[in-house]
Amino acid sequence: TDRLLEVEGLKKSFPIQGGAFGKQIGEVKAVDDVSFFIKKGETLGLVGESGCGKSTTGKTLLRLLEPTEGKIYFEGKEITNLPKNEMRRLRREMQMVFQDPFASLNPRHKVEKILEEPLIVHGVTDSKERKKRVRQLLEIVGLNDYHAKRYPHQFSGGQRQRIGIARALAVHPKLIVADEPVSALDVSIQSQVLNLLKDLQEEFDLTYLFIAHDLGVVRHISDRVGVMYLGRIVELADSEELYENPKHPYTKALLSAVPVPDVDFQKERVILRGDVPSPANPPAGCAFHTRCPAAMEQCAHKRPLFKEVEKGHYAACHLYE
Ligand code: SF4
Ligand code: MG
Repeated sequence: TDRLLEVEGLKKSFPIQGGAFGKQIGEVKAVDDVSFFIKKGETLGLVGESGCGKSTTGKTLLRLLEPTEGKIYFEGKEITNLPKNEMRRLRREMQMVFQDPFASLNPRHKVEKILEEPLIVHGVTDSKERKKRVRQLLEIVGLNDYHAKRYPHQFSGGQRQRIGIARALAVHPKLIVADEPVSALDVSIQSQVLNLLKDLQEEFDLTYLFIAHDLGVVRHISDRVGVMYLGRIVELADSEELYENPKHPYTKALLSAVPVPDVDFQKERVILRGDVPSPANPPAGCAFHTRCPAAMEQCAHKRPLFKEVEKGHYAACHLYE
């Protein structure tokens, strides 16, 4: 199989507690029946507004959160119910890079120690070997020995993200889930970190799930892109295809908000009415129908299937049935 990771019918719900006794009064379907795969060596972009379930999807497929339903395969092997100790071993193959490197780096530890930690966890017992690897890692992400003895607060945002990336790379992973790794950075720094991720991918044969809230960021790094809305993937296609030939009205609206340099391609701005509905109480039928400029009668009660509308191009919308 050329698929490094695959999820089938993935669901993740969170209980809503309420009342005097903290009784469960409902649930949020953060991820609601999502299926996709990531090929070895590719980058799959996953895009959507905040709260659409993209981070939860990323954490659930790494089993940092337990799925409510569905199946997860890694290198063709089902890992959905893999016991904790086996999962721990597998975790060195699948790492995560977080949006806010500052929050995810221990402020009381020097960078050296931060980078040694995953090595210790994964059984590199020789301290000389660890030190050597730490130096290597710093170099890989464009930092050096001098940085090893410093604390996270002594770095800029971009440098901290480099440390976060170095930490994820420490144990030679195959898959990296990067959850909005550049969202907190200045635009000028964003492209540096994106370029670094691209270079590292080539050098170390990495596969990425790259999560972002806007389509502009993932365009140049992704081979394919999936768009999420209220816990579901509503469209997925090759990157070029998605940007030039979007099918789903939600994707079209998102794209119309991305400035593009090519004037011929400038889309008319689509303004969506209303806010994203609460995932605790999503609309029936097509969850996008309350805001969709193309909504039809059936959209309010019939859920569109996610299906292939052109070769390799998937969408969930009644316009294409
Ligand atoms: Fe719009 Fe209907 Fe398509 Fe949903 S199914 S995106 S409401 S046209
Ligand atoms: Mg998020």
